[in-house]
Amino acid sequence: MTQQYDYLVIGGGSGGIASARRAASYGASVLLIEANRMGGTCVNVGCVPKKTMWNASAIAERLRDAPGYGFSLERTDFDWAKIKHARDAHIARLNGIYHRGLDQSGVDKVEGYAHFESPGRIVVNDFTYSAEHILIATGSRPIVPPVAGAELGITSDGFFELEQLPKKVVTVGAGYIAVELAGVLRGLGAEVTMVLRRDAFLRTFDATVRETLMEASEASGIHFRRRSQVAALEKTNSGIGVRLESGEHIQDVDCVLWAVGRSSNSSNLQLERAGVETNGYGGITTDDFQNTNVKGIYAVGDVTGRKALTPVAIAAGRRLADRLFGQQSDAALDYENIPSVVFSHPPIGTVGMTEDEAREHFGDDIKVYSARFTNMYYAVLEHKIPTVVKLVTHGAEEKIVGCHILGDGADEMIQGFAVAVKMGARKKDFDNTVAIHPTAAEELVTLK
Ligand SMILES: Cc1cc2nc3c(=O)[nH]c(=O)nc-3n(C[C@H](O)[C@H](O)[C@H](O)COP(=O)(O)OP(=O)(O)OC[C@H]3O[C@@H](n4cnc5c(N)ncnc54)[C@H](O)[C@@H]3O)c2cc1C
Repeated sequence: MTQQYDYLVIGGGSGGIASARRAASYGASVLLIEANRMGGTCVNVGCVPKKTMWNASAIAERLRDAPGYGFSLERTDFDWAKIKHARDAHIARLNGIYHRGLDQSGVDKVEGYAHFESPGRIVVNDFTYSAEHILIATGSRPIVPPVAGAELGITSDGFFELEQLPKKVVTVGAGYIAVELAGVLRGLGAEVTMVLRRDAFLRTFDATVRETLMEASEASGIHFRRRSQVAALEKTNSGIGVRLESGEHIQDVDCVLWAVGRSSNSSNLQLERAGVETNGYGGITTDDFQNTNVKGIYAVGDVTGRKALTPVAIAAGRRLADRLFGQQSDAALDYENIPSVVFSHPPIGTVGMTEDEAREHFGDDIKVYSARFTNMYYAVLEHKIPTVVKLVTHGAEEKIVGCHILGDGADEMIQGFAVAVKMGARKKDFDNTVAIHPTAAEELVTLK
């Protein structure tokens, strides 16, 4: 027997839930299929637990600064198990909220792995479902490289299972997840070494911001092994031994964190039965409207390999439902000028083109304004953490095509500046805005 719906959504993560609920709000009959915990990566092993740990690490920094502000702290013990317990409880609450939200929206749910039988039909737990419209929102998973002993390491998923703060950590990878988790661990007191394949991390970010963060990370005590690769991990009496291709052997490590990228969850879907095409990395190829190459099959979020961020998956999923069921035939997500934050120490906020990208695109027809300074917060402290702000402008009008901030508060600052950039703000619009004093953000409207 086959059960029929208007819309089948595979994956109960950020994109799938958002799209399913929006479609149901238009009266469509919707079934959402989720194999694991409701909420997907962001809620269970991504943004949410990561931000909790970043907050913990930020508090540790404030405690370190407190004596400089006149506080005397007798003890600042940190209880990893306590925050993990509170974090897990928060996530369990969120799982429940997602389940109830779907129920209230009238979305049917089934637990299990879905795979295609044919273009309009999928199978879950030996039961067949059919629909005119099927969304693939199955996300991505961390890659573990084919290195001898790789299983001795963990990925970001395993990071959230750690029951105690590791003492000596090696992170492998140069993307934002490596940077964020290395920063959290260092902030909480672990000895951290980052193994980078090239000279720097965050290579797609603006060079000024990236280089300043590398400097700040090094000053915080993070060690780098640049132009290095792991040859093997070995179990020893005192932990894990990390053998680099250079011949160096980092001993007594108690946590190796693989953060070398993520691959799309597409291989378990039997896409060949539906004829859906993927790119070389398993990412499902979509057009501007999230259509795959097969009529009636769509994809949003990490599985597409495009801008792997929660709000992107949500926005793409909702626009798709608006188009399919809400009679908004032009609804589509504009992937230009999507802001993002790296929750590093200090954080990065960024929107638009890096200086290098703008130069590649516009040649010499760009003008860059930037400043580096120390946030007033550090004026009375011994240690100083740099702040960098940078505007990349194009043409005689000096339209802002890139805005990059590194420094305390950048994570909260960038959203507002992103609105301005998205609206097409020019440098003179920033100059015409009266500064808020004393803040770090004011530097963005007083750049010379
Ligand atoms: C450590 C980490 C930190 C992050 N931090 C941030 C952040 O700060 N901000 C941000 O915006 N983004 C962040 N992200 C990225 C963000 O989590 C993802 O971009 C987002 O979750 C993608 O949503 P999605 O709907 O595409 O996929 P997911 O949320 O991954 O959901 C996919 C779901 O599909 C299910 N599934 C897979 N295959 C099947 C199948 N065959 N049948 C049924 N179900 C299936 C999976 O179980 C999963 O629940 C982070 C990611 C990680 C790993």
